[in-house]
Amino acid sequence: MTQTTETAVVAGVGVLTYQAIPAAELDAIRTAGRDEAGNPLEVRVLESGGAPLRCCLREARAGERVLLIAYTPSGTAGAYAERGPVFIHAERCAGYLTPGHYPPGLAHRQQVVRAYDRQGRIADGVLVADGRHAERVIAVLLARPEVELVHLRNVGYGCYNFAVRAGGEQDL
Ligand SMILES: [Zn+2]
Repeated sequence: MTQTTETAVVAGVGVLTYQAIPAAELDAIRTAGRDEAGNPLEVRVLESGGAPLRCCLREARAGERVLLIAYTPSGTAGAYAERGPVFIHAERCAGYLTPGHYPPGLAHRQQVVRAYDRQGRIADGVLVADGRHAERVIAVLLARPEVELVHLRNVGYGCYNFAVRAGGEQDL
């Protein structure tokens, strides 16, 4: 067992970038007061924590102010472009600050790693037990020439959490 899972550098793929929803996109939605589906935004104060926040890639804590918005993540196209519900902070947050690493605040969660090709079509889907397992699967999928990016999604409802692409932030 090597320590390669400790870093984002994986043989054959190189550096990976873990992408939250861009802050500018979220700012535009908050300013508009509506999500992409036209639903008016409604601030909720969470009674209990645990909801994954797609702005900063950690679970919400009890008492935090959040919005539940309809969102279509990038990298998908045509019939494969799925709009779904995601939680974000009600106000702008610091965002995800370590894009070279799997989000530690979500690493305990079982996930589905769903791969998409350059045409935005689903190329594969793999169930993973946790972040450490996910990192290995992500590296294998992104090493395939037809795979452009992967999504990490919740197991039960299939909701989008974040995307991963090969390359550093400056390449994307
Ligand atoms: Zn946030």
